[in-house]
Amino acid sequence: MPVTAPTSRVDGKAILAQAEKYRDDMVKFLRDLIRLPSESTQEEKVVLRIKQEMEKLGFDEVHIDKFGNIRGRVGNGSRKFAIDAHIDTVGVGDPDTWKWDPFEGKVENGIIYGRGACDQTGGMVSAVYAGRILKDLGIGGDYSVYMVGSVMEEDCDGQCWLYILREENPGIECVIITEPTNLQIYRGHRGRMEIEVTTKGLSCHGSAPERGVNAVYKMAPIVKQIEALNGKLRKHNFLGKGTVTISDIRATSPSLCAVADSCTIHLDRRLTAGETKEIAVAEVKAAAKRAGSPEAQVRILEYRRPTWRNLVYPMEKYYPTWVFEENHPLIQCASEAYKRVFAKKAPVGKWTFSTNGVSIAGLCGVPCFGFGPAEESTAHSPMDQCPIDHLVKAAAFYATFVPTYVQTTRRDEITMSGKSSASAESRSGNGRRPARASRKPSKGKKGR
Ligand SMILES: [Zn+2]
Repeated sequence: MPVTAPTSRVDGKAILAQAEKYRDDMVKFLRDLIRLPSESTQEEKVVLRIKQEMEKLGFDEVHIDKFGNIRGRVGNGSRKFAIDAHIDTVGVGDPDTWKWDPFEGKVENGIIYGRGACDQTGGMVSAVYAGRILKDLGIGGDYSVYMVGSVMEEDCDGQCWLYILREENPGIECVIITEPTNLQIYRGHRGRMEIEVTTKGLSCHGSAPERGVNAVYKMAPIVKQIEALNGKLRKHNFLGKGTVTISDIRATSPSLCAVADSCTIHLDRRLTAGETKEIAVAEVKAAAKRAGSPEAQVRILEYRRPTWRNLVYPMEKYYPTWVFEENHPLIQCASEAYKRVFAKKAPVGKWTFSTNGVSIAGLCGVPCFGFGPAEESTAHSPMDQCPIDHLVKAAAFYATFVPTYVQTTRRDEITMSGKSSASAESRSGNGRRPARASRKPSKGKKGR
């Protein structure tokens, strides 16, 4: 059904009451999603289940893109924005650490337990039902809201949205990320990147090592320099400190009776505000130089795993920091929607982990913020859970945000800076232009 009637007033309480009517439907839907294991690259069944629910609830359009993401549209207006939930999950890890079946969707004392309940199929459930609530209440306006179930996030955060914004962008102005925030508004997180450093040596028989050059010995002082570097990285008062750690070390040699001819370390680098990939790479190169090996190779890795639709969409493993100030028009709008539903001031915070915001805001310059059911602390753990109340409240928030956004923001101020500047921010939303590595994130940080 078309949603066209203009709405002058947004009654958050009425929306919350309507969301309450769908409490049981949302529980059933979330349990169904939990029962369909959906690790990254294996999301097909869960995508089809979401499609079925969107169609049942009367979405205006349901589309599965070539990457494998699903998006359902409500409304047919010119202000276009999205509510994103990634619908892949991590694995279960050691099954013995689970006290219940991770794929059953146990309900106890108002809480649903199971893999993905927290991170983050609960957000998908609330977003889909927000679409139904908009229709039930005839909440019109000049909007098209897309409920997106994105894939592959656990394996390569942001890749799904890089595809959407660069290849199949319907003209998205901004995105709500529904990762768990415990029903708070989150305005950023640190970024991250994966870097490899390789030293080369010269192999020879291990019985006479003096004939060769041992690549491991060349790496040893670099390892010490990286450890020292971690203590010197910059800090940001909201996002915290940048960090670096070595997560892997390996060497090659013709045999275990030979001198190693190469050695590689893998760095997990977390980036705070103001730290770009150029800065991070330059720091590592300087560390190698101080260690006496200026010729060591430093490279950023690339992600190339095929999606469930068998698409390979290469992405550099650079996930930029992003953060918005509290007075940014989008964060202000989110706070207003919160007040309309819950009749109190919105709590505002940040994630510890990383989200699709790394590409949405970090690489593509499309403003976003977080609001989701459940608490981040149970993500990826055998306690993975989502309170049922949160499903209802998040659905009400999303449904309230939609008309609030159209009424209280102007399209031209939904930019990274929050200021109208058509030239600098014109790539926001056209999705065609690859982000330039040299672009300064505006008050952004990265982290995961
Ligand atoms: Zn997540």
